Amino acid sequence: MADSSKLYARAKEVIPGGVNSPIRACLSVESEPLFIARAFGSKLESVEGDVYIDFVQSWGPMLLGHAHPAVTEAAQKACAAGASYGAPCPAELELAEMVIEAVPSVEMVRMVNSGTEATMTALRLARGYTKRDKVIKFEGCYHGHADAFLAAAGSGYADLCIPGTPGVPADTVKDTLLAPYNNLERVKELFKLHPEDIAAIIVEPTAGNMGLVPPAEGFLEGLRALCDEYGALLIFDEVITGFRLSYGGAQARFDITPDLTTLGKIIGGGFPVGAYGGKKEIMQHIAPCGNIFQAGTLSGNPVAMATGIATLKLLKQADYAALEQRTSKFAHELLNVLKEKGVPVTMNTLASMFTVFFTDTPVTDFATAKTAAPKLYTTFYKQMRAQGIYLASLSYEAAMVSFAHTDEDFEKALEAARKVQF
Ligand code: PMP
Repeated sequence: MADSSKLYARAKEVIPGGVNSPIRACLSVESEPLFIARAFGSKLESVEGDVYIDFVQSWGPMLLGHAHPAVTEAAQKACAAGASYGAPCPAELELAEMVIEAVPSVEMVRMVNSGTEATMTALRLARGYTKRDKVIKFEGCYHGHADAFLAAAGSGYADLCIPGTPGVPADTVKDTLLAPYNNLERVKELFKLHPEDIAAIIVEPTAGNMGLVPPAEGFLEGLRALCDEYGALLIFDEVITGFRLSYGGAQARFDITPDLTTLGKIIGGGFPVGAYGGKKEIMQHIAPCGNIFQAGTLSGNPVAMATGIATLKLLKQADYAALEQRTSKFAHELLNVLKEKGVPVTMNTLASMFTVFFTDTPVTDFATAKTAAPKLYTTFYKQMRAQGIYLASLSYEAAMVSFAHTDEDFEKALEAARKVQF
């Protein structure tokens, strides 16, 4: 029988750390990765044949659950018609039109292959368009691994606890200005210090990479107003929130209009897709109609476009409110189970996401997220996993619930949590 541990040992010989993305290695939860054989609905099956209820959902894309029949069929059909053309195809146009219809601020959109490419290009576009260099990002927000964003980033980067990544020249991040999430005063100060140099603010309109941290009342409105006042662009990084906080993303839910939006994860239905879009007037500066360059051999890939279209068609009809209600009920029940154990615990939840922070401090930014005790999360993670509940291998991530999760899944997860010993 296949064995995750043996595969991991083999993988470490040929892939750095044995994984193709750092947090998969499960180092911070003192565990080894499970190798996955297949996934269906709310479940993952490891190569050993053990089935887990999955609250990671590939870190966000699988809002419909794994291997949804309509998405699988779309992939198979598209694949049979050729995997890549390097030329326009109708599916990329159809997905672009669907994104534009769904996401309020997007009038034009360009498909890329990952969230990283989307944010990297949105920043290049903002800089080229405004002819300014500086960007404000928030501590604990993660915008992919492009050089400019690797300053006080969240997600797996936070886990490594290094102030900067070797290989990112100091000059590359010198224009990245940092502010605490939800701290409008600090953003105002930065604008006062650099009134004519800030090209953009980039923000996760609900943070998902320092654990889930919703925006405080007035925070996003304040960012919009400051950008307008100083002639900077507001970039919403909706790689997680897009099509998750609502069909129109965070901007539809909070009714704030950014200038540029980055998307990823859900729009590919599990295939590698990212996108950036916004006002026509700005997007037209991208090559070939403008002179700001961005390109991609596999961008608009017909298989990934087909799975994206199939996913969005289903999500358009989906009952987001019901999923939110079920997620919130489950998260609060989980909170009560953990509270009864006498550990410090705070629960943040919004839409179909939640994060358990092992702290008594309300979590509103990266500093408060860091008050959570990593050891308690490690204990929780290990014992839940041993009982068939698959959680994020890092406390700085939001747990994801899909439309495929059943009440029985929630009950099993609660039952497992009741048995955890701290
Ligand atoms: N932005 C946000 C908000 C993300 O959460 C992520 C990935 N977790 C990215 C950008 C980067 O996306 P990718 O991993 O597809 O490059």
